[in-house]
Parts: sequence; structure tokens; C-alpha cells
Amino acid sequence: MDTPHAIDVAVIGGGPAGLQAALTIGRVHRRATLFDDGRYRNATVAHMHNVVTHDGTPPAEFRATARAQLAAYATVDVREERVETVAPLDGGGFLLTGGSGHEVVAAAVVLATGLRDELPGIEGLDALWGDLVAACPFCHGHEAAGRRVGILGSAAAPHLSRILGPVAGSLVVLPHEDEAPDGLPDGVAVAPGRVERAHRDGDEVVLTLADGREERVAALFVAPRFTQSAPFAAQLGLELNPSGCIRVDELGRTSVAGVSAGGDLAHQAALPMPMVSVVQAMAGGQLAASGALMGLLSAAH
Ligand SMILES: Cc1cc2nc3c(=O)[nH]c(=O)nc-3n(C[C@H](O)[C@H](O)[C@H](O)COP(=O)(O)OP(=O)(O)OC[C@H]3O[C@@H](n4cnc5c(N)ncnc54)[C@H](O)[C@@H]3O)c2cc1C
Repeated sequence: MDTPHAIDVAVIGGGPAGLQAALTIGRVHRRATLFDDGRYRNATVAHMHNVVTHDGTPPAEFRATARAQLAAYATVDVREERVETVAPLDGGGFLLTGGSGHEVVAAAVVLATGLRDELPGIEGLDALWGDLVAACPFCHGHEAAGRRVGILGSAAAPHLSRILGPVAGSLVVLPHEDEAPDGLPDGVAVAPGRVERAHRDGDEVVLTLADGREERVAALFVAPRFTQSAPFAAQLGLELNPSGCIRVDELGRTSVAGVSAGGDLAHQAALPMPMVSVVQAMAGGQLAASGALMGLLSAAH
């Protein structure tokens, strides 16, 4: 087993939140190690949108640019490694243990491990996720402009129909296992019945219903269930919001001193759920890094 290393901040997660947190820490020459086990929430996405100066950039290119820029900061180290446990140490700081048994001691921790999505159990849906099937109309709607667009499930259908109304040529809601939704805007069609399968045909999604009917749409919007992708909130006993995301204050600080969190996995109590986007994740990562650094500065006095 390696000798534990003492660093200022361990950043767990190499998506937009963790990359920004590591950059912020590097800018003031604090020692940071960023851990990344390569499982990004937008892994299936070819082009990300609604990111000013990066509208249409492949996420992998965005991450590669961020890594290249981080390499200019001598106090920042990036490790392709999964962290298994984070444990508080008597007297302050945290012990991180990696999958290989490798250990790191850090004065503070920034959690940026993101969320995992769980789609409705419809055959073929997972294969289209991030391509023709998506959750966020700001990320994907424009690419289907003027065409027929589907919304799966009723809960978010009234809200999504209003957002997508000016973008789509027409809208159809597929309640699937829900009751038909109330409060849809005029002109939105409803295709009742259980959806059995989804597959791609050219640039369309074909949805096959239980009675054999088919609906063809240029894009399908779904509201996935999400969960924490890493066990650290539970390991550290962090306070959660009703959404299941980590509760943070205005500086990304969690309920445990020395632990900050930013990105999809965390939000302030005033919000019902995280504002899921690359820009928001970067902002959250920067706040979490600031919260961690403030803790280090006040501990030094
Ligand atoms: C289908 C889809 C399309 C999207 N399209 C867009 C878009 O067009 N525009 C937009 O702004 N947003 C988009 N988003 C949202 C965006 O991808 C997320 O908001 C953003 O990636 C969140 O960043 P993050 O850093 O919080 O988490 P992630 O990007 O998910 O990064 C989490 C990181 O934590 C690491 N990790 C997790 N556990 C461990 C561990 N135990 N040890 C080490 N590392 C660990 C992962 O490997 C990864 O590096 C999309 C999301 C989805 C699902």
C-alpha cells in the first residue's frame, strides 16, 4: 500500500464541476488531486449545447481541453482512479481510499461525482439516450425544430409542452403507464397506451405501443429517475435535500465541515432539484472549491 499523501483538497469527479473546482484550487497554488473514474453523466452525448463558447462541442473535447489547461498548474494532479471510501480523520482532514488500496490524506474534500439516470423500462430506450432521447429541452430541443416531438410520461408533460411549443412542429404526449395529463396546451396530441419498444429509423424514434400502433418522433423527452452515483454522501452522513441531492449552502459547503459539493449531485435547499447543466455544474464546482479554500484559510488562523 502506498504511503498516504497530504494534500489540501481532494476533488472527486472529473466532469465540468470537478474540473472547474480543480482549476480554481490550482489558480491559488493549493495542492489538489482530482480523481476521475471516467463515468460521465453525458457520456452518450455527441454534442453539448447551451454552453456559451462551447455550443455544439463534443463533451470529450471539452474535458480534454480542461485537462490540458489544468496541466499548467503544478499543484494540481489528475488521477484516473475510482475512490471507494472517504472517512473523516480524528483531528481533522479526510482519508480517501482508492480501488487499488491507494490512500490519500486531504485537508478538505470537494465532491463532484454527479448523478446516475434510470430510464423507464422500455426496450431500446437506453440505446437512444443522449441521442434522440433526452431530458432537457435546452440541451436537445432545437435539433428537432419544426418536427414532431414526443414526451414520455404525464408528470412533466404540461411544463415540457409549453417549453417545447415554439420549437416543435407538433407535440405528442405518450402517458405510457400514467394517467393522461391535465392542463396540456391546445394542439398537443395524446397517444394513450403502454409503450413497449423504442428504436431508431433514420433520424426518427419509432415508439411501438402495446396495441401495435406506432408513433414516430424526431426527439423524445423523458424524465429519468436519478440517484447519487457515488456512496460518499452516505459514508459521510451528509444532509440531503428531498430530491436526494446533497444540501449545500451558498458556497457549496455541506453539513460536514471540510466537505463541499458542486455539480448535479448537490443544490441549495431553496431549489426542488439541481439545475442540471454544464454551466451550472462549473459554477457549482467553483463555489465548492471556494468553500473548501475558505475552510482552509479559517483553519490556518
Ligand atoms: C443525455 C444528457 C444530455 C445532456 N446534454 C447537456 C447539454 O447539451 N448541455 C448541458 O449544459 N448539459 C447537458 N447535460 C447535463 C450535463 O451533462 C450535466 O449537468 C453535467 O455533466 C454535470 O456535471 P458534473 O461534473 O456534476 O457530473 P458528471 O459530468 O457526471 O461527472 C461526474 C464525475 O464523477 C466521477 N466519479 C463518480 N464517482 C466516482 C468515484 N467513486 N471515484 C472517482 N470518480 C468518480 C465520474 O467518473 C465523472 O468524472 C446532459 C445530461 C444528459 C444525461
